[in-house]
Amino acid sequence: MNYRLYDAHNHLQDPRLAPHREAVLAAVRRENVVKMVVNGSCEADWPEVLELARRCPEVIPAFGCHPWYVKGLTPDWQKALVRHLEAVPCGIGEVGLDRWIKGYDLEQQEQVFVWQLRLAAERELPVSIHCLQAWGRLLEILRAEPRPRCGFLLHSYGGPQEMIAPLAELGAYFSLPGYFAHERKARQRKAFRALPPDRMLIETDAPDQLLPPERSGHPLTDGHTNKAINHPANLGAVYQFAAELLNEPIEALAQRVEANFQRLFAAVATALAR
Ligand SMILES: [Zn+2]
Repeated sequence: MNYRLYDAHNHLQDPRLAPHREAVLAAVRRENVVKMVVNGSCEADWPEVLELARRCPEVIPAFGCHPWYVKGLTPDWQKALVRHLEAVPCGIGEVGLDRWIKGYDLEQQEQVFVWQLRLAAERELPVSIHCLQAWGRLLEILRAEPRPRCGFLLHSYGGPQEMIAPLAELGAYFSLPGYFAHERKARQRKAFRALPPDRMLIETDAPDQLLPPERSGHPLTDGHTNKAINHPANLGAVYQFAAELLNEPIEALAQRVEANFQRLFAAVATALAR
């Protein structure tokens, strides 16, 4: 393979992947995955993300509080977040807004999100944003608040196609997950075909967002629940899906994604290499 793969968003620290960690790392290296952004989602998993960043050169760490976990934050979460941000070159993520999850508290989610977004802008860190069913509000916040100059990532972008242009104008990159290869995700696929070429990234979101089974070259099962989970080495299969979707040779697509990834994460990757 003469191109390199970049995973814009995964959760290598997830406990479901822990029993398979060494095999997973060996497999991603065989697949030529050269960088992956590993996103924390709550205070409890930040130390594990930090540990992975210290021992794996492929890992670009990100620390953040995901909207699903805002209710579990301790009173010291902001201090703990800053401590992690200062421990290693990194991004901020996964953060965002979610009106899909049962029992959501949008007001608390917004407070936590805005605080983290301001921190990203203040420290010039790339930020990975999750959004479900709150696109209008997200756009309002992104317009009103300071944003990091390097840009920000809308991971698994599932918003309306008409919002791509205004979001891109604010600095958005959009990442495609393998999950959108499922037949029912036609609306999301159509939106990705309309992306500005210099704003597209690719992700696994492993261990979540599984590809359709016929596309997944690296099957993996959660030992506790016996459910299929997404293997980070499926990234190559997501590139394949993206190339088919955009009707573009995979080498050309990979080069473009590499340039886009480096633009968004360049400062962090350079600082980590020092
Ligand atoms: Zn995620």
